[in-house]
Amino acid sequence: MAEPLPICYLNGEYLPFEAARVSPFDRGFLFGDGAYEVMPVYAGRPFRLAAHTSRLTQSLAAIRMEDPHTPDEWRGIFAALLAKNGAQDQSLYWQVTRGAERGRNQGPLPKLPRTVFLFGTPLTLPTAEVRERGIACVSALDTRWARCDIKSVALLANILLRNLAAEADAAETILLRDGYLTEGSSSAVHVVVAGELRSPAQSPKILPGTTRRVVEELAARAGIAHRAAPVSEAELRAADEIWISSALRELLPVTSLDGAAVGAGMPGPIWRRLHNELQAYKRELSGQPW
Ligand code: PLP
Repeated sequence: MAEPLPICYLNGEYLPFEAARVSPFDRGFLFGDGAYEVMPVYAGRPFRLAAHTSRLTQSLAAIRMEDPHTPDEWRGIFAALLAKNGAQDQSLYWQVTRGAERGRNQGPLPKLPRTVFLFGTPLTLPTAEVRERGIACVSALDTRWARCDIKSVALLANILLRNLAAEADAAETILLRDGYLTEGSSSAVHVVVAGELRSPAQSPKILPGTTRRVVEELAARAGIAHRAAPVSEAELRAADEIWISSALRELLPVTSLDGAAVGAGMPGPIWRRLHNELQAYKRELSGQPW
């Protein structure tokens, strides 16, 4: 795990992360009552900023909180934090919790100053070696709650599920609910079945992935047919290609699932095309205003 960059943002202040203090009564700490985002920054330029800020606003609305900042205010905070920490490639984490009361109250929802926290970490994207080998995944029942479309800071189920992969020396846990693919414990999942690129349709069962959206746009641009449609467990296990996507892992080919080879057991041709499209898209954006 990479060490965070030295300066964080907490409730209007930019300060060394060692000096940041949050109340023990913060509802994020007591209840996991908050939402968050993770966004890559390439050479000082946030990637898909609008998608991340609007997803945060949506997550907050879903838990009945107004976003404490407008998109322009967020932009100003990111710009200041990037100026203080330097413009290297990094991932920006930011979260908003419902704030701190004196005590522990399950209802009604209090109106409090929100707790807003951001920090950056140097970006460590998967290496070429990892990409070329592909990753091993395990599968598990999706034991999360019924609102996985909210990017909630309450990640206990995701953490326990991801740990199943770690215990099996695998990189991700792919989740199945009622016999159908949902997503990864911290990623979206894409499959190629009979030449068709498919991922489950957006629903409360999955997070609206920002990288998934990029993959869909790039697939359309490259003339690769994509369909948002259910993927059964049998289809998943027989898929020619399986990929995961997320802001910090980009697009990675899965070459084994529960110890069985996926397709030919190596990264597939459609993954390679889209991976190249994604890298070209990043180059296209670099240097553009944000
Ligand atoms: N699904 C889950 C459960 C996630 O935690 C994540 C990212 O952390 C994703 C999907 C992918 O979303 P994004 O591409 O916006 O990182």
